[in-house]
Amino acid sequence: LNKPKIVVLGAGYAGLTTTKRLMQKLSPEQAEIVLVNKHNYHYESTWLHEVAAGTINPNQARVIISDVINPNKVKLVVDAVTKIDKDNQRVILENSELDYDYLVVALGFESNDFGIKGMAEHAFAIEDIDSSRVISEHIEYQFAKYNSGESVDEHSLNILVGGAGFTGIELVGELAERVPQLCKKYDIDRNKVRIINVEAAPSILPMFDKELVEYAKKSLENRGVEIKIGAPISECTEEGFIVGEDNELIKAGTIIWTGGVKGSSVLGKSGFELTKGKVNVDSDLRMSGEENIFVIGDCSWVWDHNADRPYPPTAQLAMQEADVVAANLVALLNNEPLTDFVFKSKGTVASLGHSDGIANVFNDNKLKGKAAAAMKKVVDNRSLYLIGGPKLVLKKGKFRPF
Ligand code: FAD
Repeated sequence: LNKPKIVVLGAGYAGLTTTKRLMQKLSPEQAEIVLVNKHNYHYESTWLHEVAAGTINPNQARVIISDVINPNKVKLVVDAVTKIDKDNQRVILENSELDYDYLVVALGFESNDFGIKGMAEHAFAIEDIDSSRVISEHIEYQFAKYNSGESVDEHSLNILVGGAGFTGIELVGELAERVPQLCKKYDIDRNKVRIINVEAAPSILPMFDKELVEYAKKSLENRGVEIKIGAPISECTEEGFIVGEDNELIKAGTIIWTGGVKGSSVLGKSGFELTKGKVNVDSDLRMSGEENIFVIGDCSWVWDHNADRPYPPTAQLAMQEADVVAANLVALLNNEPLTDFVFKSKGTVASLGHSDGIANVFNDNKLKGKAAAAMKKVVDNRSLYLIGGPKLVLKKGKFRPF
């Protein structure tokens, strides 16, 4: 019997949520579901700044996929997608090939350095578990080396973070907590370490209002983070960033770029038409002009008709898109009309370390400090709950008291 074959690429927020919804909506007789992911685990991308700073163990942020899907309903293929051949309805993987009737592209984000000279060569980027773990290991190595008798550069303990969006600010918030722990562990004076955040725009965290931004800035500065706004980075060298009109070189032993993301490079390699590195989708989340390909999460360029701009890429958006895509796949199988995607914002919460944060939730209610930090943990635990139920929350959830 010829069952339709649905292939989902990527087991991030978008791909794994789609798969879970399809598992609920379809019986094995109705369709074959295949999930392809580079690793045998899903990771919580929104926790990667904690992995990078070393404030959580990388294992806490990842979930073995076979623990949260039903193997009788979904076939998991652990392999990397290299190209999508849409003319022949085939996906080329590193080690094999797959054909499909319906495709969901959810391959997530990669760092975007906007062509800043030297950034790709000299700066770390937060892209997945491995690239984030390398950052925390590198930082700890700088501390371990400092008093070891080896010759060290006087700037080697400095940590430079480019970009003051969500990732950059959440990262320096974690670093403000991690650095004192490392100083204690390696007998180093805290004053020898600088955490420097550099941003071209005139403000940090553009998605929050002025009052919350001011609170975040003060909180971070009180904990020793230097924030340089209105300071475009013209180049990244082995030594640090070259910044501003006077070409100041800020030196550091750890250089991290968090200033932008784009969709997976597989999109370009597959010859898809792209807008700012992402695929334009119609309101039903299908790739423009394609009947059987959906693109969601950070790979998609989805227009917000109310605000007249694309939706910013978030986990919240990715999961809501997944719900609509799963429903639309079922509709396609049943020859029923498709639903248009409408985003319903539940608010935005940014952490500033373990016990501080800012939030804009429930009809523009503003939270800051411990209340916002607690809200962030609720959001993080809810995300685990949606993937693996209460068992996963108990195993990997965030319950450390303030
Ligand atoms: P991803 O979560 O990136 O998942 C992509 C999946 O595809 C991964 O499993 C990856 O391994 C797999 N994959 C990639 N390439 C291949 C390949 N070639 N072959 C096979 N598999 C592949 N959003 C919020 O809403 N709130 C927040 O507080 C927030 N905080 C953030 C903090 C940080 C540090 C970062 C980095 C992002 C944050 N975001 C936040 C944004 C959010 O994480 C992304 O928008 C979200 O991860 C997008 O989901 P996705 O499923 O499209 O991609």
